Amino acid sequence: MTLYCATQNQGKLAEFRLAAERYAPGAGVVVETVPGLSRIPAPEETGATFHENACLKALYYSRFAPGPVFADDSGLAVDALDGRPGVHSARFAGPSATDAENNALLLERLRGAGNRSARFVCVIALAANGEIAAAFEGAVAGWILEAPQGWGGFGYDPLFLYPPLGLTLAEAGAEQKLSVSHRGQAVMRLFQFVAGWRAPSAT
Ligand code: IMP
Repeated sequence: MTLYCATQNQGKLAEFRLAAERYAPGAGVVVETVPGLSRIPAPEETGATFHENACLKALYYSRFAPGPVFADDSGLAVDALDGRPGVHSARFAGPSATDAENNALLLERLRGAGNRSARFVCVIALAANGEIAAAFEGAVAGWILEAPQGWGGFGYDPLFLYPPLGLTLAEAGAEQKLSVSHRGQAVMRLFQFVAGWRAPSAT
């Protein structure tokens, strides 16, 4: 079965493909991006929660794909910032902010903060035939460092220390990150579901 994925983020796409191999081996699940994704205007992410935004994106992009589509919404919730940047993680420092700009702003906002605890959260929604078939969530708790460490991953990974490993998610390898991360958990649930699922055929 081909599952269409609604992301242009190469970091996420690599994690989804790795997860398909790991969690649905032999199930014939292939992950492709939605055809022509770069030319499709992105929907406004108006949801107040990761769940709302994931569902909104999956439903929207399913109009452009010949089969089931999944979309994720994810981000960083920092306790000292009352859960921010949350659903605004990608554009924390502005509408077209780079990862480096977002990370710099996060460090600035946390300057002098005693409590640097945070969670990454991910919700993946699966849509088929104009309906949400299921949604899956994952979360991972960690600590925001005072300076970046490591070169792997993407986004806030270099600042996010995962205490059980003693590494940031940018220092952990791709396999290791997938084993512990918010997206790893959500995508494992997605592929376990899909391995025993028959997508409804178009009416
Ligand atoms: P989305 O594409 O709307 O889900 O935005 C997600 C944003 O949250 C990304 O652009 C990153 O800034 C951040 N984020 C989500 N997941 C991760 C992760 O696994 N590592 C680092 N940053 C992440």
